[in-house]
Amino acid sequence: MTPHTLTPVRRLVIAGGGTAGWMVAALISKVLGKQLDIRLVESDEIGIVGVGEATIPTLLSYHELMGIQEAEFMAATQATFKLGIHFEGWRNLGEDYFHGFGTTGKDHWTAGFQHFWLKGRERGLAEPYTNYSLEWSAAKAGRFAHLPKNGLNYAYHLDATRYGQYLRGLAEASGVQRIEGKIGEVELAASGDIAALKLGDGTRIEGDLFIDCTGFRSLLLGQALGVGYEDWSHWLPCDSAVAVQTASVGEPLPYTRSIAHPFGWQWRIPLQGRVGNGLVYDSRRLSDDAARSTLLAHIEGETLTTPRTLKFTPGQRHKTWHRNCVAIGLSSGFLEPLESTSIHLIQRSAIRLMQMFPAGGVRECDIEEFNRQSQNEIEHIRDFIILHYHVTNRRDAPLWQHCGSMDVPASLARRIELFRETGRVFHAANELFGENSWIQVMLGQGILPGAHHPTADLMGDVELGNFLGDIRAQVVRTVAQLPTHRAYVGSYCGVA
Ligand code: FAD
Repeated sequence: MTPHTLTPVRRLVIAGGGTAGWMVAALISKVLGKQLDIRLVESDEIGIVGVGEATIPTLLSYHELMGIQEAEFMAATQATFKLGIHFEGWRNLGEDYFHGFGTTGKDHWTAGFQHFWLKGRERGLAEPYTNYSLEWSAAKAGRFAHLPKNGLNYAYHLDATRYGQYLRGLAEASGVQRIEGKIGEVELAASGDIAALKLGDGTRIEGDLFIDCTGFRSLLLGQALGVGYEDWSHWLPCDSAVAVQTASVGEPLPYTRSIAHPFGWQWRIPLQGRVGNGLVYDSRRLSDDAARSTLLAHIEGETLTTPRTLKFTPGQRHKTWHRNCVAIGLSSGFLEPLESTSIHLIQRSAIRLMQMFPAGGVRECDIEEFNRQSQNEIEHIRDFIILHYHVTNRRDAPLWQHCGSMDVPASLARRIELFRETGRVFHAANELFGENSWIQVMLGQGILPGAHHPTADLMGDVELGNFLGDIRAQVVRTVAQLPTHRAYVGSYCGVA
């Protein structure tokens, strides 16, 4: 696109009204609702994926930008609090670990807490690493409360369908016009840009900029503009999921469970009144029927829905912005929900688009920068997810044998080697997962560093024992003062 063809963007068309469509519509309309004509087309007949129910703490900042009141949002979406993910049987059968949000222990500026913990472990002074995490201790005890100064870092489990409806209310209040209908054709202009969407009833929706939120179909970017897909299934072999909702049994846990199976893994996401369950699997190694019966054999409580099978290819489009079309959500790519990152990626793309909003016309330099940032972001998350599969002692099934012996991206191999040899982890600006996330998962999956930082050697046994003991005692004292998660959610959201 050359500068003289710049067309100011006044008419924004969002294709699709799943979590992606409504998150984007709500955010853009909140800021630019008065300046833009924003229309969102969705088809009730096609519906939404609707299984994205576990989130990460970054969603709090989206809600802050949106001015969303937390208790109201939680009541509207049947949300509970989430302190992290409990990984069960990932390293070895029968062994668990926790990836909690927030920090573990106390860092020194020269060296992270893991170095002091490693030294303490060597001298028989340390408890398991997770015991120094407030989030894990609260999660294990089923307790939660808001604490000052980010005392407990959290995200939410939410009902995806209700969340979409909640955001739709906000977007419509900011002027977004919803159009019900099935997009039958994407009309291209002579320039190759998208000119309009044509609906089944003949309605023609013209726009200057189009956001493709049509889910796995990727109707605009993938199908109409022909932007190809980079397939990452050689690193992430799971290509299917089966999901079912069940009635709650017992108290809602303040964390997601991720339970490893021979052919994939199972999620368990507790909401206020029900539980979301699913099995992610490699369909070359487990048939869809067998996956369904495996899931049904491993759930608790009465089933509330018919099990639903979903197919996907892990990876991402070569470009997520091409010409006058930006793909956000499943239309742009997909990573399995092991670390609950898809809604985060939607949020990041929506914010990035706002920061680069091409009001004066679409420019190639914006497109390049947007695509570069999107690619870096998803590749970082991809590496983190591969880590869980690759660093494991499990060899009891072909999936684990393959993952344990496969080559991994060089960026991940470097990180693993650095941690294995030195205990060090570095986190680049704009990377989603911080040092403590990497440390928890690398230790949890079975990497024990061969060395620690010399700062930890400066402490004698008594000093180190007191240092570790004080942190643990503070964690225990804090957790003992917390109410149960269920009681807290009930009073916070006004649930009887
Ligand atoms: P969809 O929900 O598929 O929405 C597509 C929209 O496009 C719909 O409104 C549909 O009607 C419309 N549409 C499509 N074609 C047409 C047409 N021809 N005409 C008109 N409208 C059309 N994310 C997380 O963050 N956490 C999780 O725990 C999590 N778990 C997941 C588990 C699984 C198995 C899967 C597959 C995904 C999971 N995700 C998770 C991802 C999450 O579900 C999605 O990122 C999120 O739902 C966004 O989906 P979407 O809006 O892009 O697509």
